[in-house]
Amino acid sequence: MAFIEVEGLSKTYGASLDALHRVSFTVEKGEWIAVMGPSGSGKSTLLNILGGLDTPTGGRVALEGQEISRLSAHELARFRAEKIGFVFQQFHLVPYLTALENVMLAQYFHSLSDEREAADALGRVGLGGRLQHLPSQLSGGEQQRVCVARALINQPNLILADEPTGNLDEVNETLVMGLLTELHREGHTLVLVTHDPDIGRMAERRIELHHGRLTEVSVFPTYEEELIDNLLKAVWHAQEDTARSVLESAGLPEFTRNRATFLLMAQEGLVRLEGPGLSFAPRGEARARHVIRRHRLSERLFYETFGLDKDLLDEHACKIEHSLSPEVTEKICTFLRHPQTCPHGSPIPPGVCCPRG
Ligand code: ADP
Ligand code: MG
Repeated sequence: MAFIEVEGLSKTYGASLDALHRVSFTVEKGEWIAVMGPSGSGKSTLLNILGGLDTPTGGRVALEGQEISRLSAHELARFRAEKIGFVFQQFHLVPYLTALENVMLAQYFHSLSDEREAADALGRVGLGGRLQHLPSQLSGGEQQRVCVARALINQPNLILADEPTGNLDEVNETLVMGLLTELHREGHTLVLVTHDPDIGRMAERRIELHHGRLTEVSVFPTYEEELIDNLLKAVWHAQEDTARSVLESAGLPEFTRNRATFLLMAQEGLVRLEGPGLSFAPRGEARARHVIRRHRLSERLFYETFGLDKDLLDEHACKIEHSLSPEVTEKICTFLRHPQTCPHGSPIPPGVCCPRG
């Protein structure tokens, strides 16, 4: 039995609008899953049904074997309060209650509201000094952190987040995503709705909705790997151009456009980010060397063997460089007699097959 089982879930509005159409998937305990898809594709509808805030017109949802639609209104409210923490894009804080009281409100179903616990939860999200503030006296990012504290207070098994960073600036986005990452590490199951690929990529698994249909499961990895290859290439090129191993990250346009991916790459030991400096970690450098090698060998192949125009080489090489296996790469290199430069004159890093390697 999976932690969450969604089977043939449908939600129809009026006669013909299928907000969800026979959606099925499972989530394992402790998993982080991203629900992606364009606006209006049914993401919020799905999340609300998972959390028992909305009822489906067909199909079923079971959480730890408990079918949600079988619960009475009272049981459902209790189930929600004890098992599920919600974080929404609009913060839904009660405007006339302080931060502390908003968090304590979520303890409603416990016999006794524990002020200490609520204060601790706020301390944990960095708001220990804001306990008595009203929502209107807090910034958007701070309000969202109150919501994270509120979601945490009952130690819910499942955290449901609907575009939690949709209304936040970059700094608060990083803070809130950092908190969610921590919760996931502690073993909470996380279902996070987002249309932002950078945030979706932080999840372990992604499902995608289009017009209420689950069309693709985990299609991102190839795309993600290619993006990482391309960013590693950009770092390699910048190092070649400047003859420096530590780059100014702000000076690299690819960095400013893909900050979240670079953070991910740093986490995975591909690059080092130290203050304003950006450099390769050994794994990233080795991977970049291989991509550059595949790229420049491909250019050489297209140029020499197929007589392709020099201006077109780069574009064609980009298409195949991600998919060449090490064996094929060595074969191409041997076939071309281990060339030292690409047709534009840039050096080709040697491989194991090369006499000079
Ligand atoms: P998303 O969160 O992916 O942007 P939603 O789940 O909010 O999408 O909405 C999916 C579809 O269902 C949309 O076409 C939306 O207009 C429609 N919809 C959502 N709620 C209602 C409602 N209460 N009444 C009628 N249509 C709705
Ligand atoms: Mg939505």
